[in-house]
Amino acid sequence: MKEIILCYQGEMALKGLNRATFEAVLSKALRYRVRELGRFQVYKAQSTMYVEPRDQEAEANVGEAYERVRKVFGLAALSRAAVCEKNFEAIQAAAEEYLGGALQKARTFKVEAKRSDKSFPMKSPELCRELGGFLLAKHPHLRVDVKHPELTVMVEVRDYGAYIHGPKTPGAGGLPVGTSGRAINMLSGGIDSPVAAWFMARRGLALHHIHFASPPYTSEAAKQKVADLARIVSGYTGNCVLYVVPYTKPQEYIRDNAPDVLFTVLMRRSMMRIANRVAKEIDAKALVTGESLAQVASQTLMALACTDAAQDLPILRPLIGLDKTEIVEVARRIGTFETSILPYEDCCTIFTPPHPKTKPTLAEIEAAEAAMPGLAGLEETAAREVERIRIEMEPPRRGGALFEL
Ligand code: ATP
Ligand code: MG
Repeated sequence: MKEIILCYQGEMALKGLNRATFEAVLSKALRYRVRELGRFQVYKAQSTMYVEPRDQEAEANVGEAYERVRKVFGLAALSRAAVCEKNFEAIQAAAEEYLGGALQKARTFKVEAKRSDKSFPMKSPELCRELGGFLLAKHPHLRVDVKHPELTVMVEVRDYGAYIHGPKTPGAGGLPVGTSGRAINMLSGGIDSPVAAWFMARRGLALHHIHFASPPYTSEAAKQKVADLARIVSGYTGNCVLYVVPYTKPQEYIRDNAPDVLFTVLMRRSMMRIANRVAKEIDAKALVTGESLAQVASQTLMALACTDAAQDLPILRPLIGLDKTEIVEVARRIGTFETSILPYEDCCTIFTPPHPKTKPTLAEIEAAEAAMPGLAGLEETAAREVERIRIEMEPPRRGGALFEL
């Protein structure tokens, strides 16, 4: 029996005039996601996207395609459906063959029908009644329950065929990547920042990453770990670039010329200024971080205010209100956790004073910066010497992208 994947749009359906753009981006993402699994055709009808296998290889891979499509942002729900000819005998046979096993396990069921091909001779209520009667006769233990059925058998009679499926499964939600513009994610090797990237990609942002490395204090292995994280996240965001900033000199300069207790906030402002320069070069409209309120000294309200004031792009902090345990849970689900906990050093944790100030004021921060006249030049050089690493998308890991805390 031939199967097809039906994808139902979520929030996108509300987007009025932008809808055509959203759908174009979504269908491109769907095509790209299943491209090595055989020949699939992706098309749209009545707010539903179809992912249809067109050769034997694709037919054999519908299960894998379904898993991949489940991770594409922009879909509220999807279902795997059997396709058959548009006549009642074929529909009966397909429903029994496709869902007979599930009906055998259920106690109650109902049939729902949609007939968008109005030339089909049976109207929806008749189709429900007749198919329901047929299935009841096959499975006499069943009872019809129209309000709370254990299993709903859906029949859709459309232009190119009839489709039979069980309940829909939830999609990844959100909006197709790219429809909200482009931003740069500040990617450390830790747990939080890959999760932040995932959250923002889910809201339709196309993301590139920037990482600050301070060799020899940070190692080549630490950089490789960050590239690995970027690659895992690319399963959701698509291909991207990892910008690696040679940050040793600005960081040493701050260490040697600023009060210890202000070191971290001064360094974070400096990182933001460099990220801002790189962002402007690629026309990215925001910076993303994995900061969470009060997680560490540099993430108190006053420290964040000082960080914000360093540059002029919006800083998006999707984890700001999440607890670490919640962030870890998402990290596990999207497949970044195991890599994040590998023990490599990060430039943010070197030279860190034992007692950083948790309530810095902008006035004292600006005074400290005024006493560092050489910093701007070092930042400019660091931004200019940034290394670009292309990250090719890998298929999303199992279990990812479904967000149900
Ligand atoms: P993570 O937050 O990713 O788990 P972390 O907790 O060690 O790592 P923090 O010190 O909390 O990092 O830093 C807060 C945020 O600043 C990170 O989430 C990340 O967005 C950014 N950041 C930290 N270090 C770096 C770095 N070396 N390069 C780029 N961004 C960084
Ligand atoms: Mg953190």
